[in-house]
Amino acid sequence: MTLHFNIVTIFPEYFVPLDISLLGKAQTSGLISINTVNLREFASAPHYSVDDTPYGGGAGMVMRADILADAIDSVLRSGSKLVFLTPSGQKLTQRICEEFANVQENQDVDSNIILVCGRFEGFDARIQEYYKAQTDVDVFEISIGDYVLFGGEVAALVVIEAVSRLIPGVLGNPQSLVEESHQLNSEGHELLEYPNYTRPANFRGLEVPNVLLSGNHAKILEWRHEQAIKITNAVLFN
Ligand code: SAM
Repeated sequence: MTLHFNIVTIFPEYFVPLDISLLGKAQTSGLISINTVNLREFASAPHYSVDDTPYGGGAGMVMRADILADAIDSVLRSGSKLVFLTPSGQKLTQRICEEFANVQENQDVDSNIILVCGRFEGFDARIQEYYKAQTDVDVFEISIGDYVLFGGEVAALVVIEAVSRLIPGVLGNPQSLVEESHQLNSEGHELLEYPNYTRPANFRGLEVPNVLLSGNHAKILEWRHEQAIKITNAVLFN
C-alpha cells in the first residue's frame, strides 16, 4: 500500500527537504507519496488572497473557508483523513501517529491523509464544521505542542516524519521501532527508551556502565528495562 500525504499550504517550498534521506527513499519505493496543494492556485487574481478580516473585528486575518474547501476537495476522496493543524487541537501522540500510519488496518489499501496548514490567525471555523458533517471523511484537529508557530507547515513536517517511520519498510531496521520511546511494550505500557552508549568506552572520564561490557545478555536486558522504567517515571509521571 501507499500512504499518500497531500499538504494544503501557501508555502509548498517548505516541503522540499522531504525528498532527502529515508523519506526520499520511501517516496522512491512507493511506500509514501507527498504532494503539495498550493492554496493560492484556488484564489483569484489579481492578489490571490486566501485570507480576509475577521467578522466581529480583532487582530490579524482569517483564512477563507471557501478557498480552503476548493483546495481540499481537489485531493479529497472517500475514507480520507483530513487533518487541520492548529494549536487548539488534540496533542499529537505516538498512538495518533499509529492511527495515521494505518499499521493495524488493511495493508493492501492506499490511504490518503490531507494536512491543512494554517497561517495568519488560523481558519474560518466553518471549514472544520463543514467536513465534520461529511460521513466518509475522518476529521482531526492536531496540535504538535502547547506553543504557537507562524504556520502549520512545520507541524505538517512533524506529522509526516513521525507517521512515515511507522510504515513497514520505511526504516532500514524494523527492530529500531520495537524498544523505542513511546512504543507500547508487550505489557501495553508506554516506556521511554533506556540510555544508549557507543565507543569510546571512556569519554572525557565518563565510563560506559559496566553491565553493557559484560556480554551477559540477560543482565543487559534487565538493566535496560530498569533504566527505561526509571526514565519513564522521572519524565512522564513527574
Ligand atoms: N490564532 C491562533 C490561535 O491562537 O490558536 C494561532 C494561529 S497560528 C499564528 C497560524 C497557524 O499556525 C495555525 O492556524 C496552525 O495551522 C499553525 N500552528 C501554530 N501553532 C501550532 C501548533 N502548536 N500545532 C499545530 N499547528 C500550529
